[in-house]
Amino acid sequence: MNVKQANKFGFSINRSRLIDYDTSDRKVREYVTLREPSFKLCFACGGCTATCTAGQHTSFNLRRLNTYIRRGEIEPLREEVTRCMLCGKCLLVCPRGVNTRNVVAMAAEAIRKLERNEL
Ligand code: SF4
Ligand code: SF4
Repeated sequence: MNVKQANKFGFSINRSRLIDYDTSDRKVREYVTLREPSFKLCFACGGCTATCTAGQHTSFNLRRLNTYIRRGEIEPLREEVTRCMLCGKCLLVCPRGVNTRNVVAMAAEAIRKLERNEL
């Protein structure tokens, strides 16, 4: 059944989120993990997202940002990093002790370097 046929039945098929890890861009992930190793401890519980100051006023979502970094999805990450206010509130709730604020700061730095061809 194709997407057009599926829509007639009142549901739709989501766009594939499959990532080819052999070809995805790992530069930002490696940059962040090297400078903030606690990033590896994140198990995507969403506690940071629930308490996030920016998330209460915008569509910003820190857990989603972490996923973009892991999956090498640079284009959506570029916009997402600009929404964090670096207030540090998320740091207080992370059960794994991830330095979340620094993760965002390092991701933003990596994006800037990527744009200048320095990464
Ligand atoms: S609270 Fe910590 S472990 Fe949970 S999603 Fe956020 S960074 Fe990851
Ligand atoms: S530092 Fe950024 S991600 Fe963390 S609570 Fe503040 S605005 Fe949200």
